[in-house]
Amino acid sequence: MSSRTIQLTDALHQYLLANSLRDTEVRKELREVTSEHPMARMQISPEQGQFMFVLSKMLNAKKAIDVGVFTGYSALIVAEALPDDGLMVACDTNQEITNIAKVYWEKAGVDHKIDLRIAPALDTLTALLEEGHEASFDMAFLDADKCEYPAYYEVCLKLLRVGGMILVDNVLWGGDVLDENDQSDDTVAIRNFNQKLLEDERVYISMLPLGDGLTLAMKR
Ligand code: CA
Repeated sequence: MSSRTIQLTDALHQYLLANSLRDTEVRKELREVTSEHPMARMQISPEQGQFMFVLSKMLNAKKAIDVGVFTGYSALIVAEALPDDGLMVACDTNQEITNIAKVYWEKAGVDHKIDLRIAPALDTLTALLEEGHEASFDMAFLDADKCEYPAYYEVCLKLLRVGGMILVDNVLWGGDVLDENDQSDDTVAIRNFNQKLLEDERVYISMLPLGDGLTLAMKR
């Protein structure tokens, strides 16, 4: 039984949350507001958020990148883990959705750490390189356009210090990575990206069955 990851029943998942989730009012409120949004399935799970918080602490992260902000939950949690003079560069193209994020970043008192840039993420990441941020970030969370993952990844790898971590979201894609009949752009992109990471010797990797699948890639 211990040779593979345990299957979470609803009851066991509830147990996991009841025995590990350290929530705040702001996080709870943001999750509730987001759950009413038509694109609510894009929200990361609370246990994934908390994992990212601990990971930020483990990395002693001072600078982080969030690619694909949506309503700002992952950026909120990671920003909470950063020191008061920390920097979270948050990338998204949607002004309307990130306006929701801004309300909760302010409520949580982390808005001064967050540099929200409304532009295609690849443009923002490239601009960060030009602004002299090479090899200075501790962490990057990739969760925007799946077809752009390889491009985000390459620039983020340059922006990370050695020992820094890229987190790639949705790597199991609701299980569709297995469905040979699914040749849609996003699914094929995720399959190809997973394969690329497996073979990329510039990083150490671990693919976790957390949320919709999360791969950690640590820069060597
Ligand atoms: Ca996601």
